[in-house]
Amino acid sequence: MDRKQATNIEVKKNNRNRIFRYICKNGTVSNPDISYDLKISLPTVTQITRELIERGLVKEMGEMQSTGGRRAKALAIAADAGQAVGVDITKNHISLVFTDLMGEIIKYERIFKPYKTEETYCREVNERLEHFLEESGCRSERLLGIGISFPGIIDLEGRKVADSHVLGVRDLPFVSISRFFSYPCHFLNDANAGAYAEGIRAEGRERFFYLSLSNTVGGAVFGNGRLEHGKNFRCGEAGHMTIIPGGEECYCGKRGCLDAYCSARCLSDAANGKLDAFFKRLEQGERSACELWDTYTDYLAIAVNNLHMVLDCDIILGGYVGSCMGPHIQDIQEKVAERNTFAESGGFVRACRHKLGAAALGAALEMIESFIEQI
Ligand SMILES: [Zn+2]
Repeated sequence: MDRKQATNIEVKKNNRNRIFRYICKNGTVSNPDISYDLKISLPTVTQITRELIERGLVKEMGEMQSTGGRRAKALAIAADAGQAVGVDITKNHISLVFTDLMGEIIKYERIFKPYKTEETYCREVNERLEHFLEESGCRSERLLGIGISFPGIIDLEGRKVADSHVLGVRDLPFVSISRFFSYPCHFLNDANAGAYAEGIRAEGRERFFYLSLSNTVGGAVFGNGRLEHGKNFRCGEAGHMTIIPGGEECYCGKRGCLDAYCSARCLSDAANGKLDAFFKRLEQGERSACELWDTYTDYLAIAVNNLHMVLDCDIILGGYVGSCMGPHIQDIQEKVAERNTFAESGGFVRACRHKLGAAALGAALEMIESFIEQI
């Protein structure tokens, strides 16, 4: 194949991809819509959409509303042409999310299942997963794979979970988990998965930092449709930034880490382990809850300000606390603005969009996106 042929194939693939993503984003569209908005000639668009219809990835939906003249064919994504499932493994639970090419959560479930590095654990998770897929109406020939979110350092080169303090795991090869499942598995860190869910289908391509405030604190940098992994796959591990030298002990063994001050447990421990009960008390103006929130947001503001100083991008608060943060985001924005040297407002801090099952969704979406990339 000469260079010109290779370039033509590349251009066509690129156009096909843009067209597919355009239909994904806009719902029901026509060939002239696509041609106009993407500035690709109508004959090229028509040829590519015909090809996508033949491959079962796009379907015809009758005709568009007429605006005079001949009615154009209405086209939409055949959403179930590709499906994926995400599994978020935490210390005590697994969360499952089933999604299709449109990337919405079709089914979500959270199950109490304490983690064990044992075969029985993997077998039980697989059984639960198969049952969940059956209930979701999954068609196995269309299932692209399983995205597995894990709370630890995911070494994509060494194909192993390099380290998970929370689960007590070190150098665990992916294959020791994936061999129990019947579909291709892809692993990623939980904060990365949350960030991926937040960013991959968002408007705009701007970089942001995702601070995951769950029972452990993690983080991820996402921009231009990609996660940043770092030299050792530890990019964004904000939970172990020192906030108070010599401060509270962190589960990692060091003192003064952000995790010791801003994990969801710092709040839920005051309400019998129930984070929503803590927020209820806060909303009712209960004094002890308000005081704890005040202390919590003081520390959080330090971390957010530090991250913003280094990265100069939006900071999204995710994880369990981020999911409940909505009505209280102003508290943190004000404290961050006070700390800010450059007198900005704290508007760059916001609560996450995806609340339930964000990490499992992100893990599933990585499978969906790598499929779309190949279209
Ligand atoms: Zn630590």
